Amino acid sequence: MNTTQHKSLAIKAAINQGLLNEDKPLIALMNIHGLQKSVNDLTEAFPDHFKHCFAVKANPYLKFLEVLKNAGMGAEVASSTELEISLNAGFIVENMVFDTPVKTHQEIDRALSLGIAFNIDNFQELERVSDWLKINTTTSSIGFRINPQIGAGAVESTSTATMTSKFGIGLNDSGNREKVINACRKYSWIDCIHVHVGSVACPLSLIAKGIRAATNLAEEINENLNKRQITKLNIGGGLPVDFTQDEDNPSFKEYAEFLRDKIPELFGGMYHVTTEFGRAISAKNAITIGRVEYTKETGGRSIALTHIGVQTLVRTVYEPDYWKRRISAYSSQGILKIDDEIVQDIAGPACFSGDLIAKERLMPRLQANDYIMVHDTGAYHFSNHYQYNALPRLPVYGYTIDKDNKVSFEIISQGQSTQDVINDYS
Ligand SMILES: *Cc1c(COP(=O)(O)O)cnc(C)c1O
Repeated sequence: MNTTQHKSLAIKAAINQGLLNEDKPLIALMNIHGLQKSVNDLTEAFPDHFKHCFAVKANPYLKFLEVLKNAGMGAEVASSTELEISLNAGFIVENMVFDTPVKTHQEIDRALSLGIAFNIDNFQELERVSDWLKINTTTSSIGFRINPQIGAGAVESTSTATMTSKFGIGLNDSGNREKVINACRKYSWIDCIHVHVGSVACPLSLIAKGIRAATNLAEEINENLNKRQITKLNIGGGLPVDFTQDEDNPSFKEYAEFLRDKIPELFGGMYHVTTEFGRAISAKNAITIGRVEYTKETGGRSIALTHIGVQTLVRTVYEPDYWKRRISAYSSQGILKIDDEIVQDIAGPACFSGDLIAKERLMPRLQANDYIMVHDTGAYHFSNHYQYNALPRLPVYGYTIDKDNKVSFEIISQGQSTQDVINDYS
C-alpha cells in the first residue's frame, strides 16, 4: 500500500466510524506505525552513543509522547508545562533536556533538582545557576547554548543562528568566546556545548556549520583546560522536511552520512551526542481533515468555505509563501477526488479575509460536504493551536492499519468542547 492509499483508508474509516461528520467537521489523524518507523529510522541512522530527544514543542500530546518514549526517544522540553507533560508521559530524567532562554528561578530549581540536562542561554542565567549550586547539588548535565552566528535559512522568523538571534551566547561577539572558556575553567560542572540551528528551510550545510562551531569550541575549551571537561555535544534538531512529497528528503540516514563527512568528531565516540529533532520525526505522520461547508464564486474566483483555517494552520495562513502545504480533496464518502481540476481558494472559518489555507490552487472541484485533507501536519500545526474567534482545539486520533486493512483509532485528545472554550474565557 502506498502512502496515498494509506491516508485514504484512514479518512474513509474515520468517516465510517463517525469520527468525522457534520457535527465533527475538523479532526487530525496521527499515523502511529509511521511515527514508530520514523523513530526507528532515526535510531538506526546514528551510532549508539547518540541520544535522541524529541523536541516536545512540535507535538506535545501526552499519548503521542508515550509512543515516542516507548519507541526509545527522550524529550527536549522548553517550558515548565512541556517538562511536566513529558514526566507524565513517563520519560525518565536521564532522557530529558531542558532548554529555554527564559528560565525562571523556579524552573531552574525544578530541572536541576530532578537532574534533567540543562542548557544555559546567557551569562545572567549562568550566575543564577552557579548561585543555585552554592546551596544545592544536581545530577544534571549542564551546558552552554551557543549561537554560532552563521546566518539565516530561508525562513528568517524561525532561524536561530543569525547575528542577532535571541538564542544562546553569540560566539562571535567580542569577548564571548573567552568568557565561555573562563566560565568552564571556573565551573567544572559545565560539561556540554549545545547548538540548534533551526529550522524549516536551513540547508544541511548551514546546520553543519553551526555544529562545527560548537565542536570546535568544545575542543578549544578542553585544550585550554588541559582536560576533557566537555564530554557532551548537543547538536539540536532543525532537519528540514520536504513538504512537497511523501518521502523523507533528506532522510535521517542521509543527514547522518552528511554529518559523518563534515564533523567526524561526532562519530568517534569521544563525545556523548544528543539530538533534538521535532519536525523531522512527526511532521509526516499526521494529517488534518476539515469539512467543506459551502462553495461559492466571488469576483470570478471559486472559493471553498471550510472548517480548516488559521486555528490549525496559523503559519500557512500568515506566511503562505513559506508554509505552503499539499492539500487533497475527498468526497463526503471519503473517496479521493482526482478529476475536474479548477483554480480555487480554500478558506477557513475565521472572520478575517486572509484566512485562506490555499490561494488559487489548482485542484479537483470542491463541493459542499466534501472533505479536504492537509498533509504533513504532525509538527507545529494542530498541536500549536491558535485560538482565533474562540475556535476550539480539534479532536486528535491515532490510527493503525492491520494486515487486513482494518483501521483502528484511539483517542489522543478530545479537543475542546464549546463549554471548555467558554470556561477558558470566563
Ligand atoms: C524547536 C527546537 C528544536 C526542534 O526543531 P525542529 O526544527 O522541529 O527539528 C530543537 N531544539 C531546540 C532548542 C528548539 O528550540
